[in-house]
Amino acid sequence: MRVSSVFKNESVRKILKYYRKICALQISSALLSWDSETFMPERAVNDHGFAIAMLEAWQKKFLTSKRFKALLKKAEIENSKGLLNDFESGVVRVLNHDLKVYDKLPESFIKTFEKTRIVSRQKWKIARSNNNFKIFKPWLEKILGLTIKKAELLGFEQHPYDALLDLYEEGLTTRQVESLFKDLKPLKQLLGKVLQRQDQELIKKVLVLENARYEKRDLQGLNLAVLKLFKFDFSRQRLDESAHPFTIGISPSDVRITTRYEGFDFKRSLFSTVHEFGHALYDLQIDKALWFTPLHEGASYGFHESQSRFWENMICKNVAFLKLFKKEIHKRLRFTKSFDEQELYNYFTLVKPGLIRVDADEVSYNLHILLRFNLEKALIEQSLSVSELPQAWDQAMEEFLGVKPSNHSEGVLQDTHWSMGAFGYFPSYTIGNVLSAQVLKKLRSELGSVEGLILNKKFSSIKEWLRLNIHKHGRVYEPRILAEKLFNGLKAETFLNYLKNKYLS
Ligand code: MG
Repeated sequence: MRVSSVFKNESVRKILKYYRKICALQISSALLSWDSETFMPERAVNDHGFAIAMLEAWQKKFLTSKRFKALLKKAEIENSKGLLNDFESGVVRVLNHDLKVYDKLPESFIKTFEKTRIVSRQKWKIARSNNNFKIFKPWLEKILGLTIKKAELLGFEQHPYDALLDLYEEGLTTRQVESLFKDLKPLKQLLGKVLQRQDQELIKKVLVLENARYEKRDLQGLNLAVLKLFKFDFSRQRLDESAHPFTIGISPSDVRITTRYEGFDFKRSLFSTVHEFGHALYDLQIDKALWFTPLHEGASYGFHESQSRFWENMICKNVAFLKLFKKEIHKRLRFTKSFDEQELYNYFTLVKPGLIRVDADEVSYNLHILLRFNLEKALIEQSLSVSELPQAWDQAMEEFLGVKPSNHSEGVLQDTHWSMGAFGYFPSYTIGNVLSAQVLKKLRSELGSVEGLILNKKFSSIKEWLRLNIHKHGRVYEPRILAEKLFNGLKAETFLNYLKNKYLS
């Protein structure tokens, strides 16, 4: 599709022309952010921070200018008269949604929030490395207080947490998340059954691989081999290294991913690479007509996560994948030589409830999210205080996962989200996991066995299917509408069945 063929309305075209200036600022700001997380010399942090803040202030100035607002208002009126097509009305919807933050939050509030967030994140880092919640506590209280205020300013119908969820999953409500977790209740029982079934001898063998140390250059080779297999486009992409892997779309033709090398348990590095590949593919396959428009983004954080989890869990943690890829693993990591594809598969899919969310297996992962959802909702409702939080965390850990943190660093201090004021983000992870199973089911019904596609290296067919069904739409549709169009809505049952088939049969 060409831009001119989808955006015909004169008001929307003017908006998009104006929006290109904002895109230029976004590209510059994203490049600086990527550099800060990868190669920036340590002491440049303030210089870069200054430039990023300036670029953001300019973006805000453009977006809230009288001229831009008048254009948007005009398009909105035309939209209400039914004069806009899906793409044009998507532009109006997304801009109104995103501008709400600027309109409803006073300048002084944004400044205070940003300043507090920066210090709070620093204090969290210190608290975590010193394993001392007390260092972080007053700052968590501050950022929580400001977040509650933010929810009030943004406005909500039923629950203050709704206002926060909406920042990550447009239109999502607390009630919908509660109902999703209610449907996922069988997870705990399922986890118990899987654990009962797992063979102890097998676990012992897997532990050998978890502890085996690797040379970084060998794993770099393995990561490049997997990306080559998936036909990663190095003319529009990069792979680098960072402590916490991430994907950043700098521009439509520049999407960068990172991975981590810890020196042991090689699957973690491989999974990170494949996970971020899934995120990057989404950004790269958004329709060209949407480039440099507000619709050039994933439908939501949950939809984005569904794509990364699909490649990580459905493709990579698959016996067929290991059949295909084991030669490469054996060649690059000599210590794996005595492990056949089934044993490597067992290593990839061992279920072991642990303390750390980012290392959790597929079966127990969402229990980590449920725990965080319950706690952050209680914090926002003010039915739980920050002082009570560590104990509540440890109790829930024991109840949901049967493990107890021996210190705060592997408990309440493990995630960065709250320190940055990102309350309401966690449910997107579970939505992503559920959607990924729905993607698998639909893809299988239309393309046939995924194992067959993997064995025949038909990754291009999988990518094309994802492009046509999900990626190309960018943010044209609200996430709920897109899920409705694709799968008749979010279905926890599909995810539970996927786990049962994979781990209990
Ligand atoms: Mg992710």
